[in-house]
Amino acid sequence: MNKKTIKELKNLDKKVVLLRVDFNVPIENKKIQDNARIISSLPTIEYLINKNSKIVIFSHLGRIEKEEDKKNLSLKPISKELKKLSKFKVKFINETRGQKLENAIKKMKPKSIIIVENTRFEDFKDGKSVKLESNNDKDLSKYWASLGDVFVNDAFGAAHRKHASNVGIAQNSKESCIGFLIEKEIKYLYETINNPKRPFVAILGGKKVSDKINVIESLLKKADKVIIGPAMVYTFSYAMGKKVGSSLVEKDKVDLAKRLINEFKDKIVLSFDSVCLDTFEDKPGHIYEEIPEGMTGMDIGPKSVEFIKEELKNAKTVFWNGPFGVFEFENFKKGSQEIANYLANLKNAKTIIGGGDSASMVIQMGLKNKFSHISTGGGASMKFLEGDELIGIKYINKSTRSNK
Ligand code: AMP
Repeated sequence: MNKKTIKELKNLDKKVVLLRVDFNVPIENKKIQDNARIISSLPTIEYLINKNSKIVIFSHLGRIEKEEDKKNLSLKPISKELKKLSKFKVKFINETRGQKLENAIKKMKPKSIIIVENTRFEDFKDGKSVKLESNNDKDLSKYWASLGDVFVNDAFGAAHRKHASNVGIAQNSKESCIGFLIEKEIKYLYETINNPKRPFVAILGGKKVSDKINVIESLLKKADKVIIGPAMVYTFSYAMGKKVGSSLVEKDKVDLAKRLINEFKDKIVLSFDSVCLDTFEDKPGHIYEEIPEGMTGMDIGPKSVEFIKEELKNAKTVFWNGPFGVFEFENFKKGSQEIANYLANLKNAKTIIGGGDSASMVIQMGLKNKFSHISTGGGASMKFLEGDELIGIKYINKSTRSNK
C-alpha cells in the first residue's frame, strides 16, 4: 500500500487538521458499551496534538433513517469519553455545518480538539432521507474539506465505504494521509494474507456465506486450512448431503459450496456437530451430527471444538472472522468461547481477529490483550482480504517515500 502516512506530513504547527475517525461505538441509553475504537484513535490524536495542530474530528455513528434516530445517535457522549481518555481540550459542536462550527474552528487554539456532530445527521434532513454523507455528496464534501488545511483519515472501520467524510474530503483536500490506526490495520492484514508464517489457518463463522464468499475464496487460495463453522457451515453440510434440519442454509450458494469442497478438499475443514434447538431462544440445546427436521443449529458442538483445537495446535498464523454460534445467547456462546480461549493461549502464533462480532465477543470475554491484533473494522477487513482496494482510502495522497 502506497499511501502517505501521518509522519510524512511536514508542517502541522497551528494547522487545522480534519481527522476522520471511526467512533461508531455501541451505545445504550447514552452510555458507551465498548470504547475500544476510541482508544484505537488516540495515537493519531496524540501525535497531532504534540505537533501543535488544531484537530477537527469527524465520525459517523449508527444509521439515521428518521428524525428520531438523531436523539440517540449524537456524538456528545463520545466527546465526553474522549475528553476523559485523552485529557485534552475537547469541544463538541452539535452541528455538522454552519456558522457555529465555522466560528468555533476560527477560535481554536493549537492543541485543542473539536468534535463535529455525527456525519450521518447529513443523511436525513427536513423529514427526508437525503443521504448526503452516505452518498458522498459533492457540495458537502467540498464544504467539509474547506474547513481545514490537511486531511487525516484514520477510520479503518469505514474504509470500505464511500462517504463524504472520508472519500469526499480526501477528493477535495490538497494534502491527505492515513493515520496510525489504518496504517497498523493494513500492515497486519497485508502481512497475514501475503506473507503468513505457516501453517496459516483461517477460521470463518457468522451468518451468511453470501456476505463472505469472496473472502472464503481468497483465503482458500492463501491459507493452509480454512475452518468453516456455524452458521455458514450448514450451507456446506447441506451441499454434502448431511441433514441440517432448519439451520440457516443459503440454497443459492449450495452449488458454489459443492464446487469449493471439491476444489479445496485438502484445505476445507467443516465443523460436524452442533448444539441445536427447535426455537430461536436462549434455552439449553441438544447435540446432533445429523440435525433432525425442525431443529436449528445454534452453536458448534463439543466434538468439533476438540477437532478444531487439534487443527490449530501447530498453527503459526490464525485469522478468525465470525462467531460459531448465536453468541448473544448464554446457552449458545460456549463453542465460540472455547475456541477464543484456546486461540488466546496459543503459543508462538500470530492471531488476528477480523473485527465485527468476533471482535466484540473476545473483548466482552476480557481477552482484548491476548491476540496479536483485533481489527476495528469487520466490513473493511473482509473487503481488504477479498483483495479489493479499500474505497475509503483510495483518494488519499500517495506516499512520497521512495522505499514504499
Ligand atoms: P457475521 O456478521 O456474518 O459475522 O455474523 C454474526 C452473527 O451470526 C451473530 O449475530 C451470530 O448470532 C450469528 N450466528 C452465528 N452462528 C449462528 C447460528 N448457528 N445460527 C444463527 N445465527 C448465527
